[in-house]
Amino acid sequence: MSDCLFCAIVAGDIPATVVLETDDVVAFRDISPQAPTHVVVVPRAHHADAAALAAADPGLAGRLLAAGASVAEAEGLADGYRFVLNTGRDGGQTVFHVHLHVLGGRPMAWPPG
Ligand code: 5GP
Ligand code: ZN
Repeated sequence: MSDCLFCAIVAGDIPATVVLETDDVVAFRDISPQAPTHVVVVPRAHHADAAALAAADPGLAGRLLAAGASVAEAEGLADGYRFVLNTGRDGGQTVFHVHLHVLGGRPMAWPPG
């Protein structure tokens, strides 16, 4: 989709530090990390948010989660980590191409802000 930041990263038009690529997902380091490890995992296909992805392609939604688990393992997050799918304005979503945050390397606070 034109004018989508994460489509541009997937296409290689905007640089990012990629840590995992598969046929249908790309994982790269967040530009503003909120934890020692902060990676975002995106499907190559554009879907606006988690609800849209789950409705359109539940298999891809599952592969997104599996890729997030692979990233956590590769990053050595054996003590645990957090997946976040901010959805919509009140959910804190700022980029409207679904992305799974993988956060770890420190204990996570609960409840989140
Ligand atoms: P959201 O707030 O939509 O859940 O998450 C968007 C994330 O994208 C934020 O954590 C933000 O730091 C990250 N981000 C925004 N612009 C860029 C960029 O150009 N490159 C990378 N690697 N991450 C970005
Ligand atoms: Zn997109």
